Amino acid sequence: MSSTQDKQYAQTWTALLNRYPVELLEQLNNLTLKWQSDLADHFYDRLLKDEAAAQLISHEQVRTRLHASLRRWVGGVYGARAGDDLTGLVSLQRQVGVVHARIDVPVHLVLRAAYSLKDKFAELLHEKSGLPRVKQFELLQVMQGIMDLTMEIMSHAYATSHDRNSRAQEAYRLFAVVQNVATERQRQRAALLDWENRVMFELAMGAHATQLPRIGASDFGLWFRHKGAHAFQGTEEAQLIQASIERIDRELLPVVVKQTSESDVSERMGHLRELRDEAQAIAFRLDVLFRQTNELEAGRDALTRLLNRKYLPVVMNKEVAFARQHDMTFAVLVIDVDNFKRINDSYGHDAGDLVLQQLAVVLSNSCRAGDYIFRLGGEEFLMLLVDIGHDDAYKVAETVRQAVEHESFRLSNDLSLQVTVSVGLALYDGHPDYQLLMRRADDALYQAKHDGRNRVIAASV
Ligand code: GH3
Ligand code: MG
Ligand code: MG
Repeated sequence: MSSTQDKQYAQTWTALLNRYPVELLEQLNNLTLKWQSDLADHFYDRLLKDEAAAQLISHEQVRTRLHASLRRWVGGVYGARAGDDLTGLVSLQRQVGVVHARIDVPVHLVLRAAYSLKDKFAELLHEKSGLPRVKQFELLQVMQGIMDLTMEIMSHAYATSHDRNSRAQEAYRLFAVVQNVATERQRQRAALLDWENRVMFELAMGAHATQLPRIGASDFGLWFRHKGAHAFQGTEEAQLIQASIERIDRELLPVVVKQTSESDVSERMGHLRELRDEAQAIAFRLDVLFRQTNELEAGRDALTRLLNRKYLPVVMNKEVAFARQHDMTFAVLVIDVDNFKRINDSYGHDAGDLVLQQLAVVLSNSCRAGDYIFRLGGEEFLMLLVDIGHDDAYKVAETVRQAVEHESFRLSNDLSLQVTVSVGLALYDGHPDYQLLMRRADDALYQAKHDGRNRVIAASV
């Protein structure tokens, strides 16, 4: 969702508020503030009745936070006036939607929560306000109108953000699929050959243009469009294969058929040969792709071969879900090279790159095969230690720090460097939003830098 959309929503919101007298809005604001605890309690109890929701919110920390943030939210949403700049408030609703998407709160639960708030408000109005029925009705109408608008903004942000998550998820899945390179390679070669044979057969039988099997719709074409193109995204070969597929379906197949009915044999043979050459070019390029792509390539950072940051949300959410299901913990280490800029400045960017590459190897050797290492960007890395408690995680972090400290980073035959890293450690504490965990690790890293670098600082739980 863009800032233009934020502005549009702000206008809609203002228009909505303009429809009602200021005194009515004041009254609504006062009532929601007065009843905020009742509303929050009701909201929480209702949600706990839903099994899926209970899983998400039963954590004590969530309960406390949820209460506080719901009260703040109610205060903000019903405190708004037509004269205010509402874009900030709109953007807040959007952020809530994004968080929901990130931690996988289904939209229907959010709507149920909204419903429970409206419902409780109606009940309180009826039982406690002592206001005339007409007034009650008016207040309820404004309350609901504003609530509905916030829900729309949240859902909008949720949808767009959710799409993004699922794309990353899909990419990660493909990355995992391509692990079995040898089998996939055989299968796709066979599929391609099969399509070619079917074309030749149909041609021999005197088929019309419409009867010739399109390569785009063949098993191979479907595989390529849905999987291969993603898995090999960004490579020149993948683009060339895509172009070949289109050329075959749009140009070559129609011509080949025409030749069968009107032209001489040698011209027809020429077109057939072109068709076969194009198919062979696909097969060749596919081979190149598969050969270059071992299972690691597809999702890895080009410089260090570590996991690309784009998979962080997928892997984090997977581990959060796993930890919650099995009541286990995992840990995150954010690792940043100390004074890396100096290395670049003194020895050049290429030397810096060499250090990063070698560092990646040291990191990989300091953790278990089941752990994940991401390059977050620049000289910053993230290690996700699965199935581990605080003390062991701290030991790993220390091992990493010492391994780097004792490593001699070779820049050339006669030049090597000593390098140190600072490490921020955070143990998963049960909160479903992994970004809070990242933030705790980041804060710990900041502390480690502040305390003098080359050290591990653990975030308090
Ligand atoms: P600190 O101890 O506080 O982390 O200091 P620092 O110098 O490591 O941190 P700072 O963030 O100031 O500088 C990081 C530098 O890393 C700046 C940037 O030029 C360099 N850098 C980022 N990405 C790469 C890369 O891919 N290769 C190389 N060679 N340098 C990079
Ligand atoms: Mg640094
Ligand atoms: Mg840095």
